[in-house]
Amino acid sequence: MSHKLKVGELQEAYRTDEEIWRIFTIVLSTKSVKSSTYKFALMKALIENLYNVNEDCELTYNQLVYTFAKMYWNLVVKNNLLEHNSNKQKKAKVVTVIKAIQQRYFIPDDLMFDTLDDSIQLELTNKVKAVMKENVFGALYGDTNGVFYAFNHQVEVLRLHPTVHQFMMKYQRLIIYLTNYHMAKMIDSLNEVPDTNGLLNKIESIAKRTSLKPFEKLLLSYFDSCCFYCQKPLKMGIRETHVDHFIPWSFVQSDQIWNLVLSCNQCNLKKSDKLPFRAFVDVIMERNEVLRETGDSQVARWMENYRRDKVGLLYEYAVRNGFDGVWGPG
Ligand SMILES: [Zn+2]
Repeated sequence: MSHKLKVGELQEAYRTDEEIWRIFTIVLSTKSVKSSTYKFALMKALIENLYNVNEDCELTYNQLVYTFAKMYWNLVVKNNLLEHNSNKQKKAKVVTVIKAIQQRYFIPDDLMFDTLDDSIQLELTNKVKAVMKENVFGALYGDTNGVFYAFNHQVEVLRLHPTVHQFMMKYQRLIIYLTNYHMAKMIDSLNEVPDTNGLLNKIESIAKRTSLKPFEKLLLSYFDSCCFYCQKPLKMGIRETHVDHFIPWSFVQSDQIWNLVLSCNQCNLKKSDKLPFRAFVDVIMERNEVLRETGDSQVARWMENYRRDKVGLLYEYAVRNGFDGVWGPG
């Protein structure tokens, strides 16, 4: 039983895109024994953290657990979708863990994961981590025949196969669609969903956080209060301050400070789901260097795996994934 493994070695041979597609398709399809929605959630957590890997393509369990816990919090607490196991006699452990914490601290259904009190969030993520160690990392490892990643419970690190990492960036948009679709399909079959049409939208948004306010506050404390794109001042109550994902959220699926800029409401709305003009890549790279030099410990944590070429790389991959509409203030 591969999900009981504590260490999984990587099958290090070179893999072609065709081979990786084949494994990915089997994981998503009914051919694999799909006992729970865990594999979809882990796949989504990997995608959200694709740009957080270090030079060795490694991610810490803590990075993945945070995303995984946030997604199930949204599913279980906010959307009341409680069935995640094909064996309905047995509730998925992650659901039991989340429900227990919600009840113990009398947390209302509409409270979002990222606004939970730090100590409660820590208690929850530690418990979710234990579930992932027992039932998640090993299971997907087994389903992918050790081709996608290696893992080690002792040092709590997951290492992606470099070719698989590139593959995921190259086909990111398609992989997100496919994973969301299959996850929604399974959740629909296990739960009494009153509005099936809305379900896919819910699955698409479970990775989102409620508020980008902490980022806004931090950016305002280090930079002039003006729009990154049109340079107009944000104060004086004329224009609202928005936090904009430089590379659209629908592509990155995560909130990285190095990809966030202050923008006026008008630019933010007009830019919407488009990429900004390529010339802005240099501007945000310079902005990020300033951010890095602030010496702020919070920023240092948020930018731990940031490299100078990251936004440029992301921009290229977004274009390759079909983001061809570019926008600039005019
Ligand atoms: Zn503007």
